[in-house]
Amino acid sequence: MMHHVIIGNGIAGITAARTIRKRSNDKITVISGETDHFYSRTALMYIYMGHMRYQDTKPYEDWFWEKNNIELKRAWVNAIQSEKKQIVFEDGSTMQYDTLLIATGSKSNMFSWPGNNLQGVQSLYSMQDLDLLEQNTKHGINRAVIIGGGLIGIELAEMLHARKFPVTMLVRESNYWDNVLPQQEATLISNHIRAHGIDLRLGAELKEIIGDENGRVKTVITKNNESIACQVVGITVGVSPNISMLKDSEIKTDRGVVINSNFQTNISDVFAAGDCAQFQEALTDRKPIEQLWYTGKIQGETAALNMLGFKTEYTPGYWYNSAKFMDIEYQTYGTVLPQLREGESEFYWEHPKGKKCLHFIYNTSDRKFIGINNFGIRLRHELFNLWLKESRSIDYVLEHLKPANFDPELYRTYEKQIIKKWNSENPNYKIELRSKNSLNKIIFG
Ligand SMILES: Cc1cc2nc3c(=O)[nH]c(=O)nc-3n(C[C@H](O)[C@H](O)[C@H](O)COP(=O)(O)OP(=O)(O)OC[C@H]3O[C@@H](n4cnc5c(N)ncnc54)[C@H](O)[C@@H]3O)c2cc1C
Repeated sequence: MMHHVIIGNGIAGITAARTIRKRSNDKITVISGETDHFYSRTALMYIYMGHMRYQDTKPYEDWFWEKNNIELKRAWVNAIQSEKKQIVFEDGSTMQYDTLLIATGSKSNMFSWPGNNLQGVQSLYSMQDLDLLEQNTKHGINRAVIIGGGLIGIELAEMLHARKFPVTMLVRESNYWDNVLPQQEATLISNHIRAHGIDLRLGAELKEIIGDENGRVKTVITKNNESIACQVVGITVGVSPNISMLKDSEIKTDRGVVINSNFQTNISDVFAAGDCAQFQEALTDRKPIEQLWYTGKIQGETAALNMLGFKTEYTPGYWYNSAKFMDIEYQTYGTVLPQLREGESEFYWEHPKGKKCLHFIYNTSDRKFIGINNFGIRLRHELFNLWLKESRSIDYVLEHLKPANFDPELYRTYEKQIIKKWNSENPNYKIELRSKNSLNKIIFG
């Protein structure tokens, strides 16, 4: 019987294990040093905020694994010896495999700032980080300073803010997350963060962290020589593939574990998926390393099929992502870059209160719809996927905004205002809204 060993019990590793089990009776072992069971990493913040308990974040009951004959091992892997087809654990013991999946996720970036090893300085990725945050804030704090914007930075700010701890965020860029968001959305979110009472400092960089006589963080000094007294420093300057256990192995790495379109590394029986994997050749309009929950799921499934010998390519569909910035929900479909590319046009609508906006991108020449960012208004994912696939025009998309709206029945809608703005800016391309009832016709033809 084949033995499939999976390092990592995150979404990629667990989806792979389940996919293998659905297709075969082979032996499966899933290893993780972090937790005994799979949990939703995206829900870490809700545990700290008291909305969920750890057990509520586990998508499967604890009995599920034994029932499905998936062995779980709690241990850290230190090395992979592919020539012997074995992995080596921290305690020196080994395990043999027939196929191996590396699904070890990401690790938080930590640059070498003076003082970054003081007590109270931490990042947010794992359950251990969450425990540390509990420890670091257990007796209350007067202020936390978060270094870096991005999605994890704002989550950490929201978590601390929910416990009423004052928070300062130092963001190097001139607007929050403006390396991902266009100027308009980056400004909207920056304003929103401040409106929540978070001291967001833009164009601000960390110089050093000063400790007290007990080795605990006391002050943060910025490059402008401002000093900010604080008891916790959150480092959220991005994540990178967690591949340190591969340093002496034969497995090829770059920023991540290098894989082909079948998730195979340079060693034929070793595969990689999820945040730690780097495609040798990225798909059009996608990055070689994708650090998202839904891509981890698709990658885990596809990698598993390949491990079983069913040659399968990665087909994630059009790019989408969603997140929450405090109480503003964000979704993006297709390609919306911080700056327009040559040949692209845009249409931007923002609600006067600054909590909702839609940003459409399309080709100037053939008017083909390319992507949308929506904040504060929920839109139907399946429709945008369909319209991107069918190369629909911007005019068609705008005409069908009503059926595209996914907000509950009683929510206020804004389509009329949006179309009014479009028509006044585009007198040669005036459009009329179609009714909400056209939804079935769009989906079923
Ligand atoms: C706070 C936070 C919020 C997020 N929110 C979102 C969101 O809203 N939407 C979204 O799409 N994505 C979000 N993400 C990103 C998303 O969680 C990741 O993309 C996803 O979890 C990656 O899954 P994975 O299976 O590749 O790796 P992981 O979930 O990182 O799992 C890898 C596992 O492998 C274990 N491991 C690593 N090395 C070893 C070793 N040597 N030995 C043994 N075990 C090892 C790790 O401890 C870990 O348990 C968020 C991430 C964080 C940290």
